[in-house]
Amino acid sequence: MDYENDNVFARILRGELPCTKVYEDENVLAFNDINPKTPVHVLVVPKAPYVDFSDFVARAAAAEQAAFWAGVQRTAEATGVAATGFRVVTNNGASAGQIVFHFHVHIYGGRPLGGRAK
Ligand code: 5GP
Repeated sequence: MDYENDNVFARILRGELPCTKVYEDENVLAFNDINPKTPVHVLVVPKAPYVDFSDFVARAAAAEQAAFWAGVQRTAEATGVAATGFRVVTNNGASAGQIVFHFHVHIYGGRPLGGRAK
């Protein structure tokens, strides 16, 4: 699948749609999910365009990938869940439930999450 420039996260990154920003640096933007599943439910997106996790791993330079994961941790710290526990999830492809085709991870936390993926 080719990257679609008008996906919702691309529009948020361009400032065309609002978001509730949690963390930002030169590589990532993190904002609250519009339909939160847990008390803390934040989406972390790279600023560069990748369709999904597989595309990101295939095309992003190693330093860019490292910077992304550092941004995920900084986001967890900014929300407080780094101290209390959190889950990082990515849906890779439509059959896995991906609905926005700009690579992102979900950070879930703010309550006990249990031992199984929900
Ligand atoms: P996916 O299933 O692609 O991993 O998850 C996409 C997520 O984006 C969903 O949890 C959905 O609630 C969230 N989402 C969709 N549209 C918007 C939006 O316009 N703003 C925000 N903040 N989140 C959105």
